[in-house]
Amino acid sequence: MADKNTILTGIRPTGNLHLGHYFGAVGNWIKLQNEYNTFIEIADVQALTDNFNNPEKVRKNVRELALDLLACGIDPKKATLFVQSGIPEIAELTVYYSNLVTVARLQRNPTIKTEISQKKELFGNNGESLTYGFLGYPVSQAADITALGGTLIPVGDDQLPLIEQTREIVRKFNSIYGETLKEPEHFLSKIPRVKGLDGNEKMGKSLGNAIFLVDDDETITKKVMGAITDKNKIRKDDKANPDVCMVYYYHKLVSTENLDTICNECKEGKRGCINCKRELATNMINYLKPIKERRRYYENNISIVDEILKNGTKVVKCEAETTMKKVKKAMMIDYFE
Ligand code: ATP
Ligand code: MG
Repeated sequence: MADKNTILTGIRPTGNLHLGHYFGAVGNWIKLQNEYNTFIEIADVQALTDNFNNPEKVRKNVRELALDLLACGIDPKKATLFVQSGIPEIAELTVYYSNLVTVARLQRNPTIKTEISQKKELFGNNGESLTYGFLGYPVSQAADITALGGTLIPVGDDQLPLIEQTREIVRKFNSIYGETLKEPEHFLSKIPRVKGLDGNEKMGKSLGNAIFLVDDDETITKKVMGAITDKNKIRKDDKANPDVCMVYYYHKLVSTENLDTICNECKEGKRGCINCKRELATNMINYLKPIKERRRYYENNISIVDEILKNGTKVVKCEAETTMKKVKKAMMIDYFE
């Protein structure tokens, strides 16, 4: 089943999906699933590396995430949705790959460095409480990707150093044990980073600047009314710069029909911010309507969701077993085959 066009992508069950995930990642996967052999991993083992003390949160979000993904249009007939912890071969590969990467290299990985500094509460001010598991999660990502022979990995730009780390591990494995694993390539989406309502470079789950796909209409309107606009525009008929306005930024995502009019009216001072925000809220609510409807269907048929995850995990387990056989043979530890 796995071939040169295998897509493997993942998402951590740490909360609901927001517009950043949708426009930066999941929307892209929905197109890719039509063209490629697509696998989508719910990365619960990875989520536990920095949520090991909150297993309830991870457990609850596995189903939430599956609901969100199906609601967005991930089609179980086209893409295989699976749960990482259901594939013990990934943990097994992680152990073997961990010999092929130095601690210093992991500590220098820019993504890991940034994340450690953002998680002071968990890992200490200078990373003195950093766990072996968290430092090693890029190794387990290499295991995710290679277990399925993933060759094209769609990611946001925050993830690029992790793909490079996988490529290094693959090259080292092949050079020592013989040509066995495929080297993956990253695939950046058109919008590698969606900004937050507050103008922050990243819309994030825990940054208080996100519109979640599950937000109700009232919440969406309230959040949009609080979005950052051009601070030099004081009065309704002042001319403004749409390029520094978060309202225009989101209009570009959800209001494709009259975008030029919105832009020109804003520049010419013919558009008040309050009306512009109301229009955005309406367009956003309409944009999210089909997503909400699909979610409701799956919420009312939750056994279908559980079945999709169970079947997907079974399919991936077979693929991973095949990879494991090849890896063990290459490493000369296939004693009982
Ligand atoms: P966590 O805080 O638990 O790490 P997260 O919001 O960063 O959560 P992930 O599961 O780590 O979510 O990322 C899933 C995918 O979504 C990744 O490919 C990531 O690059 C992408 N992504 C997350 N937030 C954004 C955003 N604001 N814009 C574009 N892509 C995003
Ligand atoms: Mg993340």
